[in-house]
Amino acid sequence: MEELVALAKRRGFIYPSSEIYGGLAAVYDYGHYGTLLKNNIQEAWWKNMVLTRRDVVGLDSAIFMHPMTWKASGHVDSFSDPQIDCRDCKYRMRADHLLEKFGYDVDRWPLDKINEILATLRTEGKLVCEHCGRKNLTDARDFNLLIKTNFGSPIGNLKDLAEEDIVYPRGETCQGIYLEYKNIIDSMRVKLPFGIAQVGKAFRNEIIAKQFIFRTREFEQMEMQYFLHPDDMDNKFEYWKNERMNWYITVLGISADKLRFKKHEKLAHYAKAAFDIEYNYACLGKFAEVEGIHQRGDWDLSRHAQFSGVKLDYFDQARNLRFTPHIMETSVGLNRLVLMVLDQALHTEKLENGKTRTVLSIKPSLAPVKVAIFPLQKDEKLLHVAEKLYDDVKMSLVTEFDDAGNIGKMYRRQDEIGTPYCVTVDYQTLEDNTVTIRERDTMKQERISLDSVNEVITKRIINS
Ligand code: ATP
Repeated sequence: MEELVALAKRRGFIYPSSEIYGGLAAVYDYGHYGTLLKNNIQEAWWKNMVLTRRDVVGLDSAIFMHPMTWKASGHVDSFSDPQIDCRDCKYRMRADHLLEKFGYDVDRWPLDKINEILATLRTEGKLVCEHCGRKNLTDARDFNLLIKTNFGSPIGNLKDLAEEDIVYPRGETCQGIYLEYKNIIDSMRVKLPFGIAQVGKAFRNEIIAKQFIFRTREFEQMEMQYFLHPDDMDNKFEYWKNERMNWYITVLGISADKLRFKKHEKLAHYAKAAFDIEYNYACLGKFAEVEGIHQRGDWDLSRHAQFSGVKLDYFDQARNLRFTPHIMETSVGLNRLVLMVLDQALHTEKLENGKTRTVLSIKPSLAPVKVAIFPLQKDEKLLHVAEKLYDDVKMSLVTEFDDAGNIGKMYRRQDEIGTPYCVTVDYQTLEDNTVTIRERDTMKQERISLDSVNEVITKRIINS
């Protein structure tokens, strides 16, 4: 993890937020290359989930929603993690994570059961603060993960809420989809089964968040909610599980042996089945969740219909039946995907000359920069040709220009940001209009014609 965090900062991928003020826990900023990588992953998802499908439409709903949304969804009352505090050093821990270290699988346990086990461990003298090692810990209590903020003036129909001007930056993006279900039915001529997909920020008051961008308080979700008749659920659920797993392998280039499904043994009361896709993060030293694929029944639309008083049903002409659609969702954290792609790509190699090089072997289609163009030396004639080539290629591929002059250093920098191709303009170019193209992973070099650079690289990226 240290190596990855250091490279991410040194090479302009990810910085800790507010560093000049000492940082802000579990909040990160994305630099130039991090933004490019994140956007590429997001675009690959959007293309796969929306643009190339006839049964899914897109949405970009607002971060703020009417606060009743979170009452109806159950988040105000029960979106919480069990928290435990050290009375001596004030360090805060997740009780479920603490118990997992003692071998308990704390999946949706009630607070009473957690406190019962904690009491036994306390009596045995095994319950110690993870930070200071002392034994003065509180009992576990529920800590709500919704972040609260206020609007300046009261917000309409809020008779059931105690604090009239509280609003919540969304704790998950899918609620915005449920609230727009009716508008989409009315405006988009969709027919069941169909999906609504969106990408956006979500906010959670995570109790403990110290795994770099794996768990942050502000993060991006890419969610698709698929609306269907319950008879179609099992079929579609299997279909989407396969679709999603294949996407990791074929589009993101993740090795199949680093991925697995994990079945949820304990389910939310409304859920019928739930699987996570887990990736084996080398930087965390374990498999961890990147995506959830869940059956949500008719809970979401029924609850919003009940709380809003607006009918959220569907008339199915083929069945001649009016009913509340059931939902299955695929929900993935974009930042966890960025971490996964970096995690698999980062490695250090020993070279024949005894030196080492650090490389980010990111799939070329996802790489932040596709090609770097160098003049071999700072020679006017070489510069002129290289700049012209840069101007041509930059219109279709994300391209960098570097004339620092030391070719070894320029290659090293591009290897570390994952650029799949480097093109060098040298003296032979002036004679025969050819350039050297060097491939990142194999370091193989070949000469191709100057005019074909754009086409050759574009083809290789598409086929990668
Ligand atoms: P976890 O068990 O890791 O807290 P979760 O089961 O609460 O995750 P979901 O509510 O199912 O997560 O959210 C869907 C996806 O959103 C997760 O699979 C994950 O990729 C992402 N996600 C959730 N919480 C965070 C977070 N705090 N930081 C980054 N990504 C997150």
